[in-house]
Amino acid sequence: MKITLPKIDKLVLRAEFSELFAPLVLKLAKEVIQKEREKAVKNLPYLNEDEIVKKIKNEYKEYENLELKPLINATGVVLHTNLGRSVISKEILNKALKTITSYSNLEYNVALGKRGERYAYTSKLCSMLFECEDAVVVNNNASAVFLVLNTFAKGKETIVSRGELVEIGGSFRVPEVMSNSGTTLKEVGTTNKTKISDYEGAISEDTALLMKVHPSNFTISGFSQSTSLEEISNLAKKRGILDYYDLGSAYLNELPYSLGKLEPPLKKVLESGVSLVSFSGDKLFGSVQCGIIIGKKELIDKIKKNQLMRMLRVDKITLSLLNESLKAYINKEFHLIQTQHQIYKSLDELEKMANLVKEQINANCEVVKTTTFVGGGTMPCRQYPSVALAFTANPEELEAKFREKLIIGRIENDKFMLDFRSVMDENLDEIIRVCKELFDDK
Ligand SMILES: *Cc1c(COP(=O)(O)O)cnc(C)c1O
Repeated sequence: MKITLPKIDKLVLRAEFSELFAPLVLKLAKEVIQKEREKAVKNLPYLNEDEIVKKIKNEYKEYENLELKPLINATGVVLHTNLGRSVISKEILNKALKTITSYSNLEYNVALGKRGERYAYTSKLCSMLFECEDAVVVNNNASAVFLVLNTFAKGKETIVSRGELVEIGGSFRVPEVMSNSGTTLKEVGTTNKTKISDYEGAISEDTALLMKVHPSNFTISGFSQSTSLEEISNLAKKRGILDYYDLGSAYLNELPYSLGKLEPPLKKVLESGVSLVSFSGDKLFGSVQCGIIIGKKELIDKIKKNQLMRMLRVDKITLSLLNESLKAYINKEFHLIQTQHQIYKSLDELEKMANLVKEQINANCEVVKTTTFVGGGTMPCRQYPSVALAFTANPEELEAKFREKLIIGRIENDKFMLDFRSVMDENLDEIIRVCKELFDDK
């Protein structure tokens, strides 16, 4: 039987493709026709030209669907790493917009008419807010860890407790980051117990750094002991070496729902006298993705002089957004920090949101009290209260249907739930619209 497949060069000229990106149409046309040819030579039924055009158009659509797009986080987890962690509020974005969409004094000293320092302003804001001597900002906290180790302990030893050699997820494993940075890891203590004497006994003339790592997404409980930052810091000073805390997630002042009981605020961390601390900008701090390193000026200066700084530095968009977040904290405009705003919402507010949705839709559901996690490796075992809409229909099916509409919920106790702890006020209309559509309610 004769095989009748369209010629690729003619096919791609069809009017249906005229508005599309030609190289992609060509690539998809080749792939689709190749597949149809394989079927044809095996004497299997294959598509005609119009069907092939349709198939190419469908596959083209899938490419368009690959874009980064907004979705609604109804998982209850405010700091959801898969969903982009902290949200930048429109107010913060608007304040930063002017600098982002214009030339700026990023590395220019206007008063002197000379080259200036990229981090000058951000460092000042950090010093003010965190009450520290100096600060520098890099791409994320993983870079911060890498840079600190590379600057101060390359070719030397860094001592870490065996209980803190953690994997944070997404390939951040403390031992591997350490070896890549050029320092030699010296493990001390055991998985469940590390004492200050363990650190003390391990210090040799090759030791450059005592490092403490926040275990972030797991806890060791039961018969366990870890050494306080203060003890580690004091020991380092006594022995003339450096001490560094990879804090992971930092918050200022306090947290609601007694969340702060397990984790001290940044100020308390700094009071321990630790020489260097780093944390993520987009975890509890609630700003843009970056790693913030704070400490003594002389140490921060050394970090800034590291050649790697050039690779790990952040651009003006990050800095402009971070500066506005820092200013919001300084001016006590906490409502501009979306992450804080969500975590601080009262149960009454959440209940109102849930009821508002329930009243307007015709689905079999109820407003329930529930609990959720903060996320982002903060307080892994500590839940705090929330309010959700729990639906009666098949949970797996509902989860998939909502997901298709870009609303991500969670399944708990065999019920599909929209948890309002992480839902933003402006999401309500869309949630109601999608519910009405899904539950066929007019
Ligand atoms: C989250 C985390 C990191 C990684 O930070 P990123 O900003 O995601 O690069 C490193 N260390 C600890 C302790 C963390 O919690």
